[in-house]
Amino acid sequence: MTSYNTVIEPPRLGEPYLLTPGPLTTSWAVKQAMLRDWGSWDDEFRAVTRELRTRLLAMLGDGAEEFDCVPMQGSGSFSVEAMLGSFIPRDGKALVLANGAYGLRSAETLRYLGRDFTLLDKGDYLPPRGDDVTRILADDPAITHVIAIHCETSSGILNPVEEISQATYAAGRKLLIDSMSAFGAIDLKPSEIRYEALVSSANKCIEGVPGFGFIIARKTELEAAKGNSHSLSLDVHAQWTHMNKSGQWRFTPPTHAVVAFLEALRAHQADGGVAARGARYTRNRDVMVAGMRDLGFVTLLDNRWLSPIIVTFFCPADGNFIFDRYYELMKQKGFIIYPGKLTVVDSFRVGCIGQMDETVMRQVVAAAKESLAEMGVTDAAPPDAALKERAKLAA
Ligand SMILES: *Cc1c(COP(=O)(O)O)cnc(C)c1O
Repeated sequence: MTSYNTVIEPPRLGEPYLLTPGPLTTSWAVKQAMLRDWGSWDDEFRAVTRELRTRLLAMLGDGAEEFDCVPMQGSGSFSVEAMLGSFIPRDGKALVLANGAYGLRSAETLRYLGRDFTLLDKGDYLPPRGDDVTRILADDPAITHVIAIHCETSSGILNPVEEISQATYAAGRKLLIDSMSAFGAIDLKPSEIRYEALVSSANKCIEGVPGFGFIIARKTELEAAKGNSHSLSLDVHAQWTHMNKSGQWRFTPPTHAVVAFLEALRAHQADGGVAARGARYTRNRDVMVAGMRDLGFVTLLDNRWLSPIIVTFFCPADGNFIFDRYYELMKQKGFIIYPGKLTVVDSFRVGCIGQMDETVMRQVVAAAKESLAEMGVTDAAPPDAALKERAKLAA
């Protein structure tokens, strides 16, 4: 197993750990990097932007020279919107593969943009498969692009992007990937998985603070994107050409968040890069899931589909379990958890990303045990409806 060099220290201001998929718990060094002010036009800040782009590209491994990295102001959704509006031509058509909130958000974005699309909606979590893609593309030659979500953060499922990519390119179409919550911890190497562009943001697996995202795309696609965008500020081609010419962002960058992100990127490399980051999160997940299962909790997904990013648990059937109270009790013990997003049964989520290691995850499990006891919940087993739901994925 890959090792990692991170020394995790608890939040110095005593704030709770964020067991959430971004914003997440950052290191003291990342926070400290934000204490200085920067002129966005100054050489020193331009050097920050340059290094940031170079470091992100290097994470692709072999074939990275065919890509370029374009940072974009705003939260992650702004970068998704920028990618969709810039790379799908106005007369193009997308196939959106949805199994949760983020897939549906991409479809909603396309509706706003006035781009034609077909939606494959697999419900709360069932993964879109290569065969689905093959069938839909064969039936609809107008589709030019497929949109896939790498880790669908609303359930925590790791979608099978490799088979989706194979099906997409076998049919001669192009793939765009929302790798927001996976990039930096799970490989997305162009030498292994073909795609035209991916998108992620500062406050997920690279462990920076919120404020901007980035698009990593083939240079050929960046060139071809001229004139596609519906939006002045979200035009990836314009941001790219301006940045390459001047070294600057087109409009005011979130300077403090950018400098904090460079600190986070340097730590990411010092820790051992993508493999080590993925190994730490995987260990976090394994320790946390094993402990929660010992308490009687059941995960929505089988191990095969569990991502090392975030895990969905069913709420216990026990009448004494009230989520809002559970949330408060966990918070009092130093942990902010996340409500669930399943539409059929009640659930909650626990994130595995951020400045946390397995020692912290053991404390999370201990806090969960105490919280159940304080509520008078003797059995964390979910209702039968949840187990029926779970069986669908096995079928
Ligand atoms: C976090 C996330 C986004 C972006 O969400 P914002 O709230 O706009 O930052 C998009 N897609 C996925 C899969 C995500 O996890």
